Amino acid sequence: MYSFDYHRPDSLDSARSLFAQAEDPMYLSGGMTLIPSMKQRLAAPSDLIDLSGLAELQGVERLDGDGKIRIGALTCHNDVANSALVLEQLPVLAQVAGAIGDNQVRNRGTLGGSIANSDPAADWPAALVGLQATIHTQDRQIAVEDFFRDLFETALAAEDIVVAVDFAIPRRATYQKFRHPASGYAVVGVLIAEHDNGIRVGVTGAGPCAFRACALEDALNNSFTEEALDAVDVPDVGFNSDIHASAEYRSHLVKVLSKRAVAQLRSES
Ligand SMILES: Cc1cc2nc3c(=O)[nH]c(=O)nc-3n(C[C@H](O)[C@H](O)[C@H](O)COP(=O)(O)OP(=O)(O)OC[C@H]3O[C@@H](n4cnc5c(N)ncnc54)[C@H](O)[C@@H]3O)c2cc1C
Repeated sequence: MYSFDYHRPDSLDSARSLFAQAEDPMYLSGGMTLIPSMKQRLAAPSDLIDLSGLAELQGVERLDGDGKIRIGALTCHNDVANSALVLEQLPVLAQVAGAIGDNQVRNRGTLGGSIANSDPAADWPAALVGLQATIHTQDRQIAVEDFFRDLFETALAAEDIVVAVDFAIPRRATYQKFRHPASGYAVVGVLIAEHDNGIRVGVTGAGPCAFRACALEDALNNSFTEEALDAVDVPDVGFNSDIHASAEYRSHLVKVLSKRAVAQLRSES
């Protein structure tokens, strides 16, 4: 690991101003991705600006006017998985958060760090896509459709801090994941949600970043059955292909997991 200066600001303004003054700074949340990257010398920031002192980035609340759930960017995965509010109002978020890695990772890793990183196999991005999320930074709001751009690439500028994410509360939703047996990351993950304005299918793990599976949505809007998905082609063009799974296999998984999600939601209704 290269040497760096460490800062722990106590306000968003001070975090931004430290960032502006430093030569090659990076924000730090749980450090679950950034610290291993620094140890491997894949990242070498001149300054680490630790966001963990910013209380306003913590917590879960219900936005009554909008009927949404807001989660602070610094909230760790286990705090989402165990939140009474989440379990009552939007349990699929607990399902997603509880499926991440292991207990140590869930106690350190944060929602904001996960989506800022945009790992193609991360779980949270499927939830953001499926639950029509809005991402808040210190000075702007970004619709999820504009947020995830490519492999490890988002709409965030280097100096942007993710402050919170708002999730729409659907009528029903579930997350199905084919879990990598070692890391726990999603080889493929599919979140299906039924909103007042139709079905949303958010997919992670299959492509360079999370995306909506619009053909699957169309089929399910016509008929919310597993059979409706049989006729849908999921092209594997541009899908990830690595030692864990070929693009063709990931395409197959998208459909299998979508069917499992539909079967589960139908069995619950
Ligand atoms: C062994 C292991 C297993 C894992 N398994 C899974 C899994 O199954 N599923 C899964 O989804 N994830 C998994 N993860 C990832 C983990 O869940 C973390 O969410 C992820 O690593 C982000 O970590 P963090 O919140 O600690 O962010 P950090 O590592 O602190 O930061 C990550 C990146 O985001 C930037 N950043 C952090 N916070 C903000 C912010 N608020 N605003 C702007 N930029 C920010 C940082 O500058 C850095 O570039 C795993 C990680 C490990 C180490």
